[in-house]
Amino acid sequence: MTAPIVRFAPSPTGRLHVGNVRTALINWLFAKGQQGKFILRIDDTDTERSTQEYEDGIRTDLAWLGLTWDDSFSQSDRFAEYDAAADKLREMGLLYPCYETADELDRKRKIALSRGRPPVYDRAALALSDDDKAKLEAEGRSPHWRFKLSGERIEWNDLVRGPQSIDTSSLSDPILIREDGSYLYTLPSVVDDIEAKITHVVRGEDHVTNSGAQIEIFKALGGTAPDMAHTPLLIGADGQGLSKRLGSLSMGELRAQGYEPMAVCSLLAKIGTSDNVEARESLDQLVAEFDFGKIGRAPARFDEAELLSLNAAILHGLPFEAVKDRLAAVDPRAADETFWSVVRENCSLLPEVAGWVETVFGDVTSLVDAEDKDFIATAAKLLPEGELTGDSWSAWANAVKAETGRKGRGLFMPLRKALTGQEHGPDMSALLPLIGRERAMARLQS
Ligand code: GLU
Repeated sequence: MTAPIVRFAPSPTGRLHVGNVRTALINWLFAKGQQGKFILRIDDTDTERSTQEYEDGIRTDLAWLGLTWDDSFSQSDRFAEYDAAADKLREMGLLYPCYETADELDRKRKIALSRGRPPVYDRAALALSDDDKAKLEAEGRSPHWRFKLSGERIEWNDLVRGPQSIDTSSLSDPILIREDGSYLYTLPSVVDDIEAKITHVVRGEDHVTNSGAQIEIFKALGGTAPDMAHTPLLIGADGQGLSKRLGSLSMGELRAQGYEPMAVCSLLAKIGTSDNVEARESLDQLVAEFDFGKIGRAPARFDEAELLSLNAAILHGLPFEAVKDRLAAVDPRAADETFWSVVRENCSLLPEVAGWVETVFGDVTSLVDAEDKDFIATAAKLLPEGELTGDSWSAWANAVKAETGRKGRGLFMPLRKALTGQEHGPDMSALLPLIGRERAMARLQS
C-alpha cells in the first residue's frame, strides 16, 4: 500500500468536542501508523457561521492533543476551484438548476408521503425549458443546483462497516449550490479530496448517505473515490446521544478543567473498539495499537467517569519535570518535587493539587472529636523534636501508642484528622515532613 493521505475537516463554527476529536484521532493514528500524511482542512464555506476565533481554537486544541498536521488549507480560499468543478458538472448535464421554494419542496414531500412513496425529489426541474427558466428568473427566482444521481447502486467496502451498497435511485438529487450561490459541503469536499490526493475518507457514520452521492461526484470529476471508513457515533454513559452535552465536552472545557491530553486520546482511541480502555502514555503507543478492524459497529460509549479515572492513572505516572510549570501556575508552592510525589496519588485532575497546597502549607482547621481531645493533647507533647523526616511519623505513632494504649484506626485516624482536617489523603509519613513541625504543632494545639 502507498502511504495514506487523510484529512480531518472540521467546520469552524464551534469548539472541537469529543465527537470530532475522535474522528481526528482515528485519522491521525491510521496515517501515522502507515507513514502517511494528516491534512487539516478547514470547512469554512459557510462564511456566516465560520469564525477566525473558532478556527484558531481548532488549531490550539489539535496542538494540545498532539495531533499535528502535515498540511492545512481552508475551503474559503478555493471558491474558484469549486466554481470550475460546478461548471464542469453543468457541461456534463449533471448539475441542473431548480427553482422550487422550501415551501414547495415541503409540500411535494408531504404529498409523496401521503401516497406511500418515499419523499424523493421528483426532478420536475429537469423538464423546464429555457423559456420556463427565463420566466422564473424574471419573476425574481434564483436557482439552487442539484447533482443528477445515476440511479445506480453505489458500492464500496467500508473499512469499518464492511460492504456497503446505496441505491441512488432512493435518494433525492443532492443540492450542491444554494439559491444564494453558496456551496454546501458536498462538492467542495470532493474537489478538495481529489486535489489533495486523499486516499482514505474517515468520518462519522452520519456521512454514509453523503458517500453514495460523493462517490458519483468523484467519478464525474474524473477522480477515483478514496477508500472510506465510517465510524459509529458516540453515545453517553446513559446510552443517549451526546449532542446536547457537546458544549461541556469541548476540548476548551476539558483543558480548563485540567484534563491531560493523553487521557482524552486514550479514551477516544479505545472506546468502541475490541481493545480494553486503558491509559496510554503516548500517542506512539496508540499508533502501534490502531487497526480499523478493531472498531466495532455499535455506538462508542463515552463515559466521563472513565475519562476521569484514566486521567488519574496518567497523572500518577507523570514525573515532576513534565508538570512543573503547570504546578507553578496553580501555586508556586506546588512546584516542588517532593510535594508532587507525595500528593499526586491523591489527585484525579492536576488542579486538585491546590487543595493539597492548602492542606500542607495553609491554615487547616483541624478536626478533633470531643472524645479525642485528651488523646491529641498527649500526642502533641510527644511530637518528635527537631526537623521532621520520613521516619518521624512511625516514631511518633509508636510513642503515642505506648503512652495511650491506642492502636490501628483509633490511633492513626485522630492524628490524621487533627493534622490535615480530613479523613483521607496521602501517606502520613510522607506528608508530615512537608507540613513541618511548627505547623503540625500549631494544628495539634488549636
Ligand atoms: N465538515 C464536515 C463535517 O464536519 C466534514 C465531513 C467529512 O469528513 O467529509 O462533518
